[in-house]
Amino acid sequence: MQTYSNSVNGQAVEAADHQEILNPATGDSIGLAPISTESDVGFAVNTARKAQLNWARVSDQEKRDTIVRVTRVLEENSEYLAELITREQGKPLSGPGSRFEMQACVGWTQVPAALELPPEIVYEDEERKDVLHRVPLGVVAAIAPWNWPLMIAIWQIIPSIRMGNTVVIKPSEYTPIATLEMVRLINQVLPPGVLNTVSGDGRIGAALTSHPDIDKIMFTGSEATGRRIIEASTRSLAPITLELGGNDAAIVLPGTDADAIAEGLFWGAFLNMGQTCACIKRLYVHDSDYEAVVNALSNLAQQMPIGDGMDEKNLIGPLQNEMQYNKVKDLVADARANGCEVMEFGTIPDTGYFLPLTLVGNIRDGQRLVDEEQFGPALPVIRYQSLDEAVASANRLDAGLGASVWADDLEQAQQVAVRLEAGTVWINQHGAIHPMVPFGGNKASGYGVEFGLEGLKAVTQPRVISIKK
Ligand code: NDP
Repeated sequence: MQTYSNSVNGQAVEAADHQEILNPATGDSIGLAPISTESDVGFAVNTARKAQLNWARVSDQEKRDTIVRVTRVLEENSEYLAELITREQGKPLSGPGSRFEMQACVGWTQVPAALELPPEIVYEDEERKDVLHRVPLGVVAAIAPWNWPLMIAIWQIIPSIRMGNTVVIKPSEYTPIATLEMVRLINQVLPPGVLNTVSGDGRIGAALTSHPDIDKIMFTGSEATGRRIIEASTRSLAPITLELGGNDAAIVLPGTDADAIAEGLFWGAFLNMGQTCACIKRLYVHDSDYEAVVNALSNLAQQMPIGDGMDEKNLIGPLQNEMQYNKVKDLVADARANGCEVMEFGTIPDTGYFLPLTLVGNIRDGQRLVDEEQFGPALPVIRYQSLDEAVASANRLDAGLGASVWADDLEQAQQVAVRLEAGTVWINQHGAIHPMVPFGGNKASGYGVEFGLEGLKAVTQPRVISIKK
């Protein structure tokens, strides 16, 4: 059985303990992942701290060139890493699966390499000139989740190092191997100590985020853990980018052509088996269009091949872990027990954490599957009578990551879009993120943004040089 290692200072680090990682589709063993200790966390942070001084001094052009070299490493190893993602995380190689995740890793590396944040004259008159410089924060602690393990790690790593920080990243205990391998490969072209890993469960995450020598925390995960991280950060006063879950609403406006939007709605809800922060988690459809939308989604759902994602014909894989599998099953069982119509599609294998694609009708606001984030392939479809009612429903929860409006008439869609409380409101698409476009949550979905120039600013601190003329 293969044993994988953490990387610190560009070297593999031996671990005393390991955990076996199993394929969620088959139960087969993938290998042994290291379990770090608190002292490993201290070593990684100290190493990153020492490396940061030199990395910050490297010219901007050299940083950009280095990140271009990272892009090449990702491209050259994308099939190897995609297969590891599929075996470890479950998403299929095909469709919007692990090869797609690797393409995203490349794109989200290329864009920061091309962006610049030069000093900016913020004020000037006859007597003074004030220039705002963006300087690195120092050591970034990154905590990545298990749903898009490599893509989200890249979102955290690349902007940070682009701006002269160094990074210690902890992948999720559910999906450490592909991330550790990606970091090992990237380290072939990075100076030692710029990118380091620790691994293990939430306790190691807590040791990292509460370390007093951390200067910035990047976190994607649940609201509960996000709150713990805020508390942990009081030791270091590190600023935090918090990307927490969502419970995104999609509203289909009355009279919209159901067949034209069905595919966008389907993948908006079932991308990565629904285990995506900005997936459609509540679908609001006008009473008059309800049958047409449910039929169009049902037609698509029953055609989707479900199974082990290593088989290229499959487009839908398993849930990533038992916790998530049980959570989704429980929410669907609750809906069924409360008289909802549960429509299940697809034939699922006997082994693994597979669930059928599920639409749930005859359901209302206030029921658990609507109010709680399911993070899985079970979509509640809720009828509405008036647009005001749909907007109020969409806005009634604390979550505010994404939302979407679906309509033939773009003018009307925009009028509804501006009324929705979310970090991004998409029109006729959902979850369509882009490396140039800032992304982050409103309300309890977190704070701070990633991507584009705003994302780069978030891993810097402003330093003003004020000159008396
Ligand atoms: P968590 O928030 O616990 O996991 C996210 C990351 O945080 C993982 O790397 C985890 O490590 C780490 N972590 C856990 N505890 C701590 C801590 N005290 N300090 C620092 N880091 C910590 O989410 P879960 O995996 O428990 O999933 C629960 C729910 O969260 C899901 O059902 C889903 O609704 C939501 N979620 C949302 C995601 C998003 O993209 N916004 C991603 C994942 C989950 P480890 O996994 O090793 O415990």
